[in-house]
Amino acid sequence: MSDETKVAEIEKCPKCGSDLAPISETATGRKLQRCSKNVWNKETRKSEGCTYVKWIAVEPQTLDEKCPKCGSPLVIQFTRFGKKMKKCSTGGWDKEAKKATGCDYVEWINGTTEKLNEICPQCAEPLVLYTTNSGKRMKKCSTAGWDRAARQPTGCTYVEWLKGNFNQSPNGEEFLPPEP
Ligand SMILES: [Zn+2]
Ligand SMILES: [Zn+2]
Ligand SMILES: [Zn+2]
Repeated sequence: MSDETKVAEIEKCPKCGSDLAPISETATGRKLQRCSKNVWNKETRKSEGCTYVKWIAVEPQTLDEKCPKCGSPLVIQFTRFGKKMKKCSTGGWDKEAKKATGCDYVEWINGTTEKLNEICPQCAEPLVLYTTNSGKRMKKCSTAGWDRAARQPTGCTYVEWLKGNFNQSPNGEEFLPPEP
């Protein structure tokens, strides 16, 4: 008798006892499981029904980069507020002492860009999908940039914000250490 091949039982919602929905992922890669009785109402832009959300602790992703401070590998982590950062894999959080342990190297990541197979309606250059660090998404022109010296945008100004931001969960809970 072996039950190693047994499929994991569907977890039940601690609030209402319904099955939990399959794991879904936010725009910034955080994983969560909603109650199957939790329904997104497109008209009111609110979730209805059972509000239980279980955040899944995302395993820190080890990068091919070394910490500039101590040479240990860097990992990608998310904060409670969905901000992304690279941090030293030796860095930790001592819950009892309420202080950081190990190497304190942190590098914040400000959004990500993905190439799209779409053409800018203004200038016919390729569009890119930009995800801000709070999980908002927009399509923008790949020629767009920011002139730091002049403090003004450069290139094409085409921007299209995408609706639907499941990252802003009012009851989002995470298991990550507080921001330093
Ligand atoms: Zn529920
Ligand atoms: Zn380090
Ligand atoms: Zn353009």
